[in-house]
Amino acid sequence: MDYQGIIEEIAVLVEPEFGKGKVADYIPALAKVPADKFGIAVQTMDGACFQVGDAEEPFSIQSIAKVFALAQAYPVYGEALWKRVGMEPSGNPFNSLVQLEYEKGIPRNPFINAGALVITDMLIEHFPKPKTQMLDFIRELSGSDDVYYDYEVARSEREFGFTNAALVNFMKSHYNIKAPVEQVLDVYFHQCAIAMSCRKLASAFLVLANHGVLPHSGKRMLTQSQAKRINAVMLTCGFYDEAGEFAFCVGLPGKSGVGGGIVAVIPNELAIAVWSPELNEHGNSQIGIKVLERFTTMTGKSIF
Ligand code: GLU
Repeated sequence: MDYQGIIEEIAVLVEPEFGKGKVADYIPALAKVPADKFGIAVQTMDGACFQVGDAEEPFSIQSIAKVFALAQAYPVYGEALWKRVGMEPSGNPFNSLVQLEYEKGIPRNPFINAGALVITDMLIEHFPKPKTQMLDFIRELSGSDDVYYDYEVARSEREFGFTNAALVNFMKSHYNIKAPVEQVLDVYFHQCAIAMSCRKLASAFLVLANHGVLPHSGKRMLTQSQAKRINAVMLTCGFYDEAGEFAFCVGLPGKSGVGGGIVAVIPNELAIAVWSPELNEHGNSQIGIKVLERFTTMTGKSIF
């Protein structure tokens, strides 16, 4: 398959889409990212990488980090993890408070903010240095040290993170948060502020294409069942309240973030990451979705 030719063609095809979305502006550190940034990286299981545009430039991965947090916590807690967070799509915005109230402090899934905050609490309970160990974990997955915290983004998240603070406090009142509220928020805001490139993201997600084993080192990071389940939750919950449409149009498990990144996985074959900061009304990369839709159409590959 000529992946290089395909992504180059897609880059041209999506050009008319620029200018239709809106760069995230809830914090100044994201609002100033140029809207015309654009990169695609395809990383295959056999170690080949194909890329176009700004695929080597680190950007704020935001909610894509929720997948790393789940992948780090799952082997530690096993199935007990699902007692504190559900596995159902929410159909609500990612920071919804309403649903959490109905469901008495048990978030719908690990990829909405409330769910990721509970997973963060679990990481704090287990790992003595959760921020450092999170970075180490992602560096191991991606096979690269070029993964870091963007402290300006982390500070901005803290400064404007009132809804996240409300979510943690609410869950604490339902005894679903154990660590101090400030600590959970601090670790979570740093998670949102992880910066890495499309190329590193695609490499890091290969573990999910390879049933829990790192293709570059052969090390098992997740059981086969855990990898399957993380993929399943990505498919059903990875795109806020647009998860159904993404599955419908693209047909791959994936995760997006408000920094404009999307990563998706074709089991046994590859991971693909796209970065384009303009978001659609659901908070997903406007062009990223178009790229992935074209990619599965042109390659004829999806999980269905
Ligand atoms: N930093 C965002 C928040 O917690 C997460 C954004 C995202 O969904 O990518 O509000």
